[in-house]
Amino acid sequence: MPDLQIKKIDVFQVDLPYSGGVYHLSGGREYTSFDATIVRITTQTGIEGWGESTPFGSTFVAAHALGVRSGIAEIAPKLIGLDPRRVDRINEVMDAALVGHEHAKAALDIACWDIFGKSVGLPVCELLGGRTELALPVISSIHVGEPEEMRARVAQHRDMGYLGHSIKVSGEPVSDSARLQSSLADKRPGEFFIVDANCGFTVETALRMLRLLPDGLDFILEAPCATYRECVSLHRRTNIPIHIDELAISEASIMQLIADDAAEGIGMKITKNGGLTKSRRIRDICLAAGYTFSVQDTVGSDIAFSAIVHLGQTVPEKFLRCVLETRDMVTLKTADGPFHVNGGRITAPNVPGLGVQPRLDVLGQPVASYF
Ligand SMILES: [Mg+2]
Repeated sequence: MPDLQIKKIDVFQVDLPYSGGVYHLSGGREYTSFDATIVRITTQTGIEGWGESTPFGSTFVAAHALGVRSGIAEIAPKLIGLDPRRVDRINEVMDAALVGHEHAKAALDIACWDIFGKSVGLPVCELLGGRTELALPVISSIHVGEPEEMRARVAQHRDMGYLGHSIKVSGEPVSDSARLQSSLADKRPGEFFIVDANCGFTVETALRMLRLLPDGLDFILEAPCATYRECVSLHRRTNIPIHIDELAISEASIMQLIADDAAEGIGMKITKNGGLTKSRRIRDICLAAGYTFSVQDTVGSDIAFSAIVHLGQTVPEKFLRCVLETRDMVTLKTADGPFHVNGGRITAPNVPGLGVQPRLDVLGQPVASYF
């Protein structure tokens, strides 16, 4: 293998305003903007790789933007001189430098995959196992609102060609039952709905909400409760399929779900897992378990979306629920590239690496550099 070494790591920071004003989640959480960390790794031969890690505020999972950049400060000096294409070895060095804090490792890992692809002239999806023929369905993200207003936002996304809809609920059974029925009222054949509580229910409130629904509504319940014990308890008492999201944060947590037969699938968020290397393994664990899953991220701009698309492009149709169009959720464009959604579907571009060209004028000067 010819020598390729990481020579320099630059870190950029941008704020990504939420496209819909205020994003409401269960528990009264509100978000108007997301603090993005974007990384550029440069090799001694001049190849540049890009990665992004954008937590969904500090109140979604145990990840926050200042932590991303502090974590990178711990890890980045240890990566100088290493071959970025040896992604498993890179991850061992990152794990030895910092325990946990996967969101900090993610941007670095994704940038290594971008370099790997560019160095061999192949798209990242080919290196992750090879592309499927599937045009990936993208999913909308419908934040908590009044029932009729949520129904209108679903219709808006349906008109744009979206086949999947992620309906956020508040954790209050009576109003959530109304939100759910209204959001699903115009469901068309081939559409699917994920009702996402973002850990907002107790077992009691979840069971009450489910009992208020008419029979036969077709949806998956995602992230019902805040703790593993509650989710397992709920799963044993309902016939509604459950996906775990916030609590599926590592290989170990997903192995536990499978061992306990505690869910039907997961929401796989790349930066929550630590990047593409660890998400690749989690993908394979889920496939072996027969889980369905969606490929997503906490949030993010064009660079985060490109990683989602490349990983999503490797998942067989039977198991892939959807990919999350993170760009839809923010108003700032950080990179260009051939990532076009047509009729609610997208295909990974056939260009080396991730296929993104970051807008350097948007990123500004690095906030930190390591070399
Ligand atoms: Mg979710």
